[in-house]
Amino acid sequence: MIQISALPAFTDNYIWLLQDHNTQRCAVVDPGDAAPVHAWLAAHPGWVLSDILITHHHHDHVGGVDHLKNATDAKVYGPASETIPARDVALKDKDRVSVLGWDFDVLAVPGHTLGHIAYYHHGLLFCGDTLFAAGCGRLFEGTPEQMHTSLSRLAALPEDTLVYCTHEYTLSNLKFAAAVEPGNRDTTARLEKVTAQRAAGIMTLPSTLALEKLTNPFLRVDETSVKEKVDERNGTQNRAPSAVFAALRAWKDKF
Ligand code: ZN
Ligand code: FE
Repeated sequence: MIQISALPAFTDNYIWLLQDHNTQRCAVVDPGDAAPVHAWLAAHPGWVLSDILITHHHHDHVGGVDHLKNATDAKVYGPASETIPARDVALKDKDRVSVLGWDFDVLAVPGHTLGHIAYYHHGLLFCGDTLFAAGCGRLFEGTPEQMHTSLSRLAALPEDTLVYCTHEYTLSNLKFAAAVEPGNRDTTARLEKVTAQRAAGIMTLPSTLALEKLTNPFLRVDETSVKEKVDERNGTQNRAPSAVFAALRAWKDKF
C-alpha cells in the first residue's frame, strides 16, 4: 500500500511524495525545491528517498534534484529528450518503470514542453504541467495540436484515475471555465466548492478524470457549448476540436 501526500513548494507547486510503508522507502515527483523534501526526511527518520520522477525540464520541477541527488542515493527518472539534472534513467513514450515496486507507464505528452512525459500507474496519474485541475499548461514549446493530442490521450485513461498535477491553479482555472461555460452546472458547483476550499487553505488536488471531463473546458472542446462560445467570441467557425482548443488556450492566456 503506497500513500501519496503533497509537499508544498514555492507559492503554488506541489511536490508529490509517495511512501511505501512496508519498506520505508519513498519517492518524490518534480522536486523543484529540495528544502521541503529535506525537511520531510529530517522529520521522518528511517525513511529513505529512493526515486525521483521528473515530468519536464522547467526549474520549478527540477530545481531540487541536484541537492537531493547529492544527499541521497535516489535514482532520477526523466524525459529522454530534455536536459534533466542528474538523470539516471532517460524515458520515452511507452516505457515502463518500476518505482517502489509499482509499475508506471510513461506517456509522452508534448505541448507545455516538447519532451514532457506523464507517469501512470493503475488509476494514478502524475502529469506535471500538462493537465491541470480545470485547466491545462501553457504552450511554451509545443503546438496547440500537440497539446490537444496529449490531453486526449490522458482523457482516455480510466475515469476514476486520480490526477496529480503540479500546481494549485484550480480556482483561477475554474473562473475561466465558468466564463467559457456559464451554463455548466458541474462547473458552477465545482467553482463554489473550490472557492470555499481555497478560502480555508485546503488543497484542491488530486482531481479525477471524471470530474475533469465534466468541468475542464480544455477536455470539452468537442462540446457544442464550448465551440459556440469560442466562435461567438472570435467570429470564427471552428470545425476541428484542435482549432477550438487553440482558440480556447489563446483566450485563457489573456484571461
Ligand atoms: Zn512547467
Ligand atoms: Fe510548473
